[in-house]
Amino acid sequence: MSTGKLIIISAPSGCGKSTIINRIMSKGEMDLAFSVSATNRSPRPGEQHGVNYYFLSDEEFRRHIADNDFVEYEEVYPGRFYGTLRSEIESKCHAGHNVILDIDVKGGVNVKKQFGDKALSLFIQPPSISALRERLENRATDSPEVIDQRVGRAEFELSFAPSYDCVVVNDDLDKAVTETEQIISRYINA
Ligand code: ADP
Ligand code: 5GP
Repeated sequence: MSTGKLIIISAPSGCGKSTIINRIMSKGEMDLAFSVSATNRSPRPGEQHGVNYYFLSDEEFRRHIADNDFVEYEEVYPGRFYGTLRSEIESKCHAGHNVILDIDVKGGVNVKKQFGDKALSLFIQPPSISALRERLENRATDSPEVIDQRVGRAEFELSFAPSYDCVVVNDDLDKAVTETEQIISRYINA
């Protein structure tokens, strides 16, 4: 079994990407480390610095850009930046882990291009846009304006699905978790 591979997972916000990743990682059956991204957005209730994200000020984020510390970064929503720190990937890969990246579609395509066969890109698709809206409303972590913004971006994000190595539809959650797990397992054991 090889280590030091990247697993890129992208999906429109609210698709169930974090739920699927958390389920797989909490089982602990595969050697997977989560790539903690940097962002200038505020933490949601329960989110912790260094666990979910490195929550940075605008100034700190800009400094990392200037210092070329990011493998990639994107302005995913107006004024809201997210980026993958080179140090984060390197330390986890060098420690012998495979690394999961939960990043947006542009970042996902960018990292895949940089890492080639050392990375697997996986796209999680919602059964429909209306199901996506419903999930965001039920999650109740974002204001109606933010939900509109995220649903509005979903169509753009869905157009990237064909650029990914694999697509999993998250309709039935258990099935989506199993399918995702199988795809990752095949890749890291190849
Ligand atoms: P993302 O990380 O893609 O933004 P989340 O994992 O936070 O999405 O999921 C959004 C919401 O949808 C959460 O409340 C989650 O419990 C719910 N959810 C996830 N998968 C499903 C599913 N297959 N069916 C119904 N609800 C789901
Ligand atoms: P959220 O605010 O819901 O946590 O994340 C919003 C979006 O930003 C999601 O699509 C998530 O995958 C993406 N994202 C998180 N971290 C990164 C990153 O490091 N780079 C890029 N390009 N996108 C990221």
